[in-house]
Amino acid sequence: MLRIAIDGPSGSGKSTLAKAVARELGIIYVDTGALYRTVGYYVYSVGADPHDAHLVESLLKNVDIELKYVDGAQRVILNGEDLGDKIRMPEMSMYASAVSSIPAVRAFLLEMQKKMARENSVVMDGRDIGTVIIPDADLKIFLTASNETRAERRTAELICKGVKVNYEDVLADMIERDKNDKNRDIAPAIPAEDAIIFDNSAMTVEESLKEIVRLVNERA
Ligand code: C5P
Repeated sequence: MLRIAIDGPSGSGKSTLAKAVARELGIIYVDTGALYRTVGYYVYSVGADPHDAHLVESLLKNVDIELKYVDGAQRVILNGEDLGDKIRMPEMSMYASAVSSIPAVRAFLLEMQKKMARENSVVMDGRDIGTVIIPDADLKIFLTASNETRAERRTAELICKGVKVNYEDVLADMIERDKNDKNRDIAPAIPAEDAIIFDNSAMTVEESLKEIVRLVNERA
């Protein structure tokens, strides 16, 4: 079993890199942000306030989330419906960030994530993988990049998906979301003590991939 944790702020390149590492090593990639986005999507779809912790907690009994892998790609199924790219809408980032600071939401998603990591060799990306979900991971990476690089990447990614956004809005949203994620009381998005801080601002995906595979081989 090989378990790799990749944490870091939004737009740091976690998902691109984690996907590439998983493909290279022939193991499963788990995008945990998609789970928080799915809870956020549910809260949005019923018109509820994502900051109302009591209300959100009471809605969780109506939420059934399943993860599926189709040709190696993760799909999230909410109450039987494959959400596809709906969870990638820019508003969903804020909904996800708001609900992710609610302890009941984190508790709701905890066992599902721990089970995935217990039963499979995985590369898991998120905010608390190295600190909470897989504290004994074989390798923990905390991926960072400058704010500008991250906002540029995020803007390009969203435009590529056909979402109309501009750089300034993406940068402002990203900074606010990072602040929420870093400062929340529960599972804040901070590096585990034994994580390797990896700034990939000036690196290509291929360079980062090579370095991570080298670190995996060194550890495993
Ligand atoms: O990674 P992504 O941008 O899709 O995550 C959306 C939001 O979900 C993050 O801003 C964060 O608030 C939350 N999240 C989290 N813990 C994780 C993964 C995501 O709190 N492990």
